[in-house]
Amino acid sequence: SLRLAERSRWVAPSATMAMAAEAARLKASGVEVFDFTLGEPDFPTPENVCAAAERAIRDGKTHYTPAAGIPELRAAIARHYSTSAGLATDPQQVIVSNGAKHSIHNALMALCGPGDEVIIPSPYWVSYAELVRLTGAEPVIIPTTEAEGFVLSPERFREAVTPRSRLLMINTPSNPTGAVYDRAQLEALADAVLQTEVGVLSDEIYEELTFDGASAHCFAALRPGLADRTVTISGVSKTYAMTGWRIGWAVAPLSVAKFMGALQSQETSNPCSISQWAALEAITGPKDAIERMIAEFAKRRAYVIGRVAGLKDIGFTPPRGAFYAFLNVERHFGRTLGGIELTDSTSFCQAALTSAKVAMVMGSAFGAEGYVRISFATGMDTLQRGFDALAAFLEG
Ligand code: PLP
Repeated sequence: SLRLAERSRWVAPSATMAMAAEAARLKASGVEVFDFTLGEPDFPTPENVCAAAERAIRDGKTHYTPAAGIPELRAAIARHYSTSAGLATDPQQVIVSNGAKHSIHNALMALCGPGDEVIIPSPYWVSYAELVRLTGAEPVIIPTTEAEGFVLSPERFREAVTPRSRLLMINTPSNPTGAVYDRAQLEALADAVLQTEVGVLSDEIYEELTFDGASAHCFAALRPGLADRTVTISGVSKTYAMTGWRIGWAVAPLSVAKFMGALQSQETSNPCSISQWAALEAITGPKDAIERMIAEFAKRRAYVIGRVAGLKDIGFTPPRGAFYAFLNVERHFGRTLGGIELTDSTSFCQAALTSAKVAMVMGSAFGAEGYVRISFATGMDTLQRGFDALAAFLEG
């Protein structure tokens, strides 16, 4: 029989996708499920973006493009960083890929391998540790607590650094916690980074989704010299409701960008030509659909905050960005609900799905046992009825 490579033992499948699949299976059997697992906007992709894709098809923009992306899109992304983020960016530094996840993979392949350590503050997005392992490097998980706002302090960073540390991965606004680093917190971390040889992979995919006056900051632009050691990741999936189009990008120092482009040219060639033209319209076209979407997320966030406050024995810090609520459910451990003993976040999620038909993702998938993640990228009606079910479930 075919023997799998050693590498197959390094990587686990995405836990969020596994939970979503279990919810989908239940739905397919005819059961109504309140699905709070999804990490994607439930809105349609804006009309102007769809129209641009249709134009691209009709205009015959249906062939291979340069591996790193069409020049128009790379230039538009570079302009975005140069003007909005204050990070002078040459289009050659921009590599467009098949989603931000792919950009992260390419960046990690470019920057680390066996013998290297990559510092990842937890809670972290599920894929980080697995993508690091895929390169042969070792993820070094540094827990942050809810009490410190799920933010990595300069002290904790310094303690984590060893001669083998190659990279620090940060994600603000954060999936799963919704934490957003203040400018001062990020600057303090940046100063600590600059005192080391460690590079940074800054995942800024939720940069446009902030609430209550919080704002996201481009890490590479915070201090002189940071851009030379930072790879910035973003994309159109979350901001423009374009998860299926698969367009993300990395902005990297030129030598790193060149290698990422070369790697991609061998791995996958270019990202989808039609999606690239659509992404160009998303970035450069009118923004009214996006503003409506963000306003709707803000409304749902307010609703979720109110409902969580009414849940029995739940610890909670309201998110300041992204579209997730991260609930501490520890006080329920030791109870038996719906015939399932709640011992950890996985059994909690299983019991909630079985009894209340509420699907959530267990915190253990994010390196944060004791928590569960609820996505509010779902309609108000589902939120209302899902929270009713969850409240009743917790009351036993
Ligand atoms: N980074 C974070 C923190 C995410 O939550 C996600 C999607 O869930 C991604 C990256 C990947 O996005 P994309 O659809 O562009 O691959």
